Amino acid sequence: MEKIKMTTPLVEMDGDEMTRILWQMIKDELLLPFVDLKTEYYDLGLPEREKTKDKVTFDSAYATKKYGVAVKCATITPNKQRVEEYNLSEMWKSPNGTIRAILDGTVFRAPILIDTIKPAVRNWEAPITIARHAYGDIYKATEYRVPTEGKAELVFTDKEGKETFRETVYDFECPGVLQGSYNKDSSIRSFAHACFQYALGTKQDLWFSTKDTISKQYDQTFKLIFQEIYDNEYKAKFEEAGITYFYTLIDDAVARVIRSKGGFIWACKNYDGDVMSDMVSTAFGSLAMMTSVLVSPDGKYEYEAAHGTVTRHYYRHLKGEETSTNPIATIYAWSGALRKRGEMDGLTALVNFADQLEGACIDTLMDGIMTKDLTGLVVPGTKVEAVNSIDFIKAIRERLEKRLA
Ligand code: NAP
Ligand code: MG
Repeated sequence: MEKIKMTTPLVEMDGDEMTRILWQMIKDELLLPFVDLKTEYYDLGLPEREKTKDKVTFDSAYATKKYGVAVKCATITPNKQRVEEYNLSEMWKSPNGTIRAILDGTVFRAPILIDTIKPAVRNWEAPITIARHAYGDIYKATEYRVPTEGKAELVFTDKEGKETFRETVYDFECPGVLQGSYNKDSSIRSFAHACFQYALGTKQDLWFSTKDTISKQYDQTFKLIFQEIYDNEYKAKFEEAGITYFYTLIDDAVARVIRSKGGFIWACKNYDGDVMSDMVSTAFGSLAMMTSVLVSPDGKYEYEAAHGTVTRHYYRHLKGEETSTNPIATIYAWSGALRKRGEMDGLTALVNFADQLEGACIDTLMDGIMTKDLTGLVVPGTKVEAVNSIDFIKAIRERLEKRLA
């Protein structure tokens, strides 16, 4: 069989620990035998980040800006313990944070569904994708404990030094707490564009929710910016695609999401997205079945798994033990990136390969062959066989070969 050709390189970002092991297995078994893989390789593994003083992370993000599509392996975000473990000269920042800042992107997370794993919410039939505005609000807030009675004020001084606002937040008669948070129109606009673009690209309805009834300036701004951008730039395109944009209050959204069949994108403010993505992913099954894609407002895409480097499994792997780590979300990062590359370059064979690769994953799971994290989740009575990572990947390969033959 002739290998599928690519024209533009894919930005490949390698990573750490167990997912780095899976990365190589996936390439060897599921990609290289079928695709004449063209990638620009960046090693974001912690040793290489240390060696390049994290330059490699920045370079990989700029390459994504240049080529438009990237696929990323999970990486360690160093903490104090990692600084010791890897003898780091600095506690390097989260690569995901760095890449997100450079691409000004929004993260979309969607679960992979199979018939034998039923969501905790019975009526959910299709994935719910959460888009989280990963900028500002309480994540960049200034806060402190108020030690004693006194007046707290919100003051704004403009560039010329003129005080334009001064409002009393609260006249404290006893100790308490105080917080000042902010967001920027430019960031909200980028978020809105990424959401509208992603909805069009995946042909799904877009929901957006805030607490604008209570927060009449702050949350109201989010609502108005989304509406303005929708009316001016996306309304016609949405109508043509047969999809809708729907704004509702966060409380109402939560109630509707639970009653829904799924199959839409739910755009959330930073905190709502943080909390709701954990609820939605748990209700759909397993973190190992959660995909994630970073989309920039100008249409650049970076695909990855939502989970981390699976450190606990890696330590077992280092001791020579077999692990049953689930590679599905990482395989879907590759298929997502290859499909997008194929769509951008007009390569139908590559798009088809991505579809078949995902199909082969589903075939394998439906045949009852799965990693240990999933065996406890399937509906009672399903015949399952728990396998280790490499046997699972080989079982996918067998089915992929059949599909491509
Ligand atoms: P994690 O790697 O997602 O793993 C947490 C636990 O979830 C695992 O111990 C495992 O449970 C289960 N799990 C996750 N993915 C799995 C898979 N593919 N197959 C089977 N089980 C899976 O999170 P963590 O342990 O908190 O973080 C480890 C490292 O990853 C940290 O250094 C963190 O900085 C990094 N991280 C990176 C990213 C990213 O690059 N996007 C995201 C999150 C975390 P059992 O052990 O019970 O089997
Ligand atoms: Mg969270």
